[in-house]
Amino acid sequence: MSPSAEQWAAAVAAVRSAGAGDEVLLICHVNPDGDALGSMLGFALGLRRLGFTRIQATFPGQFSIPDPYAALPGLDLLVPETDACGDPDMVMVFDVASESRLGGLAGRLAAAPRSVVLDHHASNTGFGQVRLVDPLAAATSVVAEQLLSRLGVPLDAEIAECFYVALATDTGSFKFDMTTVAVHELAARLIATGIRPGEISRRIFDSKPFGAMKLTGEVLGRAVLDPAAAGGLGMVWTYATLSDLERYSQPPYVLDTLIDPVRSVAEADVSVLVKQVGTREWSVSLRSKGAVDVSGVAISQGGGGHRLAAGFTGYGEPDDVVATVRHLLDDFLN
Ligand code: AMP
Ligand code: MN
Ligand code: MN
Repeated sequence: MSPSAEQWAAAVAAVRSAGAGDEVLLICHVNPDGDALGSMLGFALGLRRLGFTRIQATFPGQFSIPDPYAALPGLDLLVPETDACGDPDMVMVFDVASESRLGGLAGRLAAAPRSVVLDHHASNTGFGQVRLVDPLAAATSVVAEQLLSRLGVPLDAEIAECFYVALATDTGSFKFDMTTVAVHELAARLIATGIRPGEISRRIFDSKPFGAMKLTGEVLGRAVLDPAAAGGLGMVWTYATLSDLERYSQPPYVLDTLIDPVRSVAEADVSVLVKQVGTREWSVSLRSKGAVDVSGVAISQGGGGHRLAAGFTGYGEPDDVVATVRHLLDDFLN
């Protein structure tokens, strides 16, 4: 269910009750994507327009920003987890489906005198004092833009660029089912501020190092099609190891969008990308074209996500992880 009038009012009241000099800490999920960074930084810039002077934005874990997002407005507000204020007056959380995705920053949320959670995952586990969780929103930036509007902050080109990046990434360049009339209307309002969609799209989707392209070729080359999986709907899967990344001198973020060519395989409803994050530890991306609710599989493994795009952490070898997914799909479909 979308946020109620009371929840919107409570979020507005929480922000308004904080003084301009109060410490505000904004947090998005570990390994941030375009929506996590874009919704958080766009909102942070909005808070700056409201007069807040002590704003920090952060995320847990390794402090590296994927190149496609390295030019986002508001990056000057971003600090590593280790520099984040220990006792903020208000914590705001963006695009985080479960507290586990806050890593070592979960305690800041729990201890904060005011907290507001903005999210759009149907699997959101429900945490924080004020919860603006809208599973019908295409991106967390949709929720963030509504809250800024209710706070009386007009869109400007910097805020709009952040929200546009978030919206474009989470709708797969305005291709997914969530790409509604309202999404296009929001995109139109964002573009009306003067931002350049072509330039932004090139930066976030259509630019990659040569080594990343070669790595992509190798990972796609080892993909396996399993037509009998998912009750005959078909599953295609592949994996990428840390040594693959090393061999091509690439950072882990280049694997973030590698599920996209995998999920284009016509013979499979379900696609799986198994990305190594440690010894026998893998970050698993699941996608469905529509027939299967992959979030059920992810949630049963301690992960989360949306019906058609979800993820979890798997253990063992890639074969083990995929066998688990295969069995779970069979269980869910029977
Ligand atoms: P990804 O495959 O990483 O692009 O993630 C797809 C969706 O699943 C996103 O909405 C993520 O927020 C969600 N997701 C991925 N991994 C996890 C996880 N370990 N726990 C909860 N949600 C996840
Ligand atoms: Mn995200
Ligand atoms: Mn999102």
